[in-house]
Amino acid sequence: MVTVSEAIQLITNNVKSSAKMEQRTLSSALDNVLAADVVSPISMPPFRQSAMDGYAICSHDSMEYTVVGEVAAGSQDHPHLNRGEAVRIFTGAAVPDTADRIVIQEKVNRQEDHILLEEAFRLGANIRPIGEQLHKGDPVMGAGMRITPAGIGLLAGVGVAEVTVATKPRVAIVVTGDELKAAGEPLNRGQIYESNGAMLAAVLSDKGYNDSQVLKAEDDLEVLTNTLQQALTEADVVLVSGGISVGDYDFVKTALNNLGVQQVFYKVKQKPGKPLLFGKKEQKLVFALPGNPASALSCFYVYVLLALRLWEGDKQASSRFQFAKIESNYHKKGDRAQFLKAKKGADNTVAILDGQASSMLQSFAAADALVFLDEEVSYVDQESLVPYLNIL
Ligand code: AMP
Ligand code: MG
Repeated sequence: MVTVSEAIQLITNNVKSSAKMEQRTLSSALDNVLAADVVSPISMPPFRQSAMDGYAICSHDSMEYTVVGEVAAGSQDHPHLNRGEAVRIFTGAAVPDTADRIVIQEKVNRQEDHILLEEAFRLGANIRPIGEQLHKGDPVMGAGMRITPAGIGLLAGVGVAEVTVATKPRVAIVVTGDELKAAGEPLNRGQIYESNGAMLAAVLSDKGYNDSQVLKAEDDLEVLTNTLQQALTEADVVLVSGGISVGDYDFVKTALNNLGVQQVFYKVKQKPGKPLLFGKKEQKLVFALPGNPASALSCFYVYVLLALRLWEGDKQASSRFQFAKIESNYHKKGDRAQFLKAKKGADNTVAILDGQASSMLQSFAAADALVFLDEEVSYVDQESLVPYLNIL
């Protein structure tokens, strides 16, 4: 049995980036992790650029200037300004070489081809110098960074159309339990509908892992061993649902052992999700998640997601908690750490939801956070800060 922080540390220490590299067009690279540094092929901006609508002036010792032309955004005009001359200019336009500042149009009186400035502007005012953001050859984004929408914009802005990214892991979900039926089938006595397969596939795709498959296995050592063997062959990461407790029909641990999966840890001092197992077979990762739906999902958010991100080589990967003020007093029973389904509110507050049993998903379906109360905590006062994980 390990503690929550030991389990997180063991995952961090044991999961190395195992992704391959692939080329992707930028438009299909959102949420992928860069596998190579990107250097800028151009300077940004590539020319001295006007930051405002107004007039570019070549200064002299008067507030009056003669307007000799116009440069709009995108125009290739390259007028030469002598001292005392100005051109009408617009945001984004190339600033003439001898212009030394842009005066904004709100501070200018124009009369035919003359302007009178209402105030003085400093040298370089409203001109973005060449390479203000990036110079040609500068690093734009580094390997290990996840490509966000802003990252797409940044890369597109320097003219990058293709990037080298880490492949995403293939995931196999192995669902165990003889009591489980598919939706649409009638339920006989003792049977329930299978829900972890759909739920885990959904949370995977929600987090950007679309290459997953669900395999079903009976509570039978031989059948289970064969199914797990197939999963280990076809996937990089195997998530098993159920069969990891201490019941007579819980064969997952034995089957994984028979298949040569090395156990990294088994059992975490937490609620829900105590019987969690994490193991490795060469580069392949295996999480055996408890079958109770809220346990399985909680373990996904805290442990599996971290491992998937480390597998991709994501340098930001961590199970980092944020802090919010708890809305009401909370008594925690027992000596295990707890992950509690919770909902964030205004002013950085968080409310613990009713219905925390590991078999229940109603509170989880309404939750956007998992509040973490460590082992030694037995009581938290209303308004005190508690750590939580964002889950949406
Ligand atoms: P287990 O971890 O196999 O002992 O299962 C614990 C509880 O979770 C039992 O009540 C199971 O019926 C339930 N359970 C296991 N797997 C699933 C599943 N895939 N969908 C819904 N409930 C499940
Ligand atoms: Mg079971």
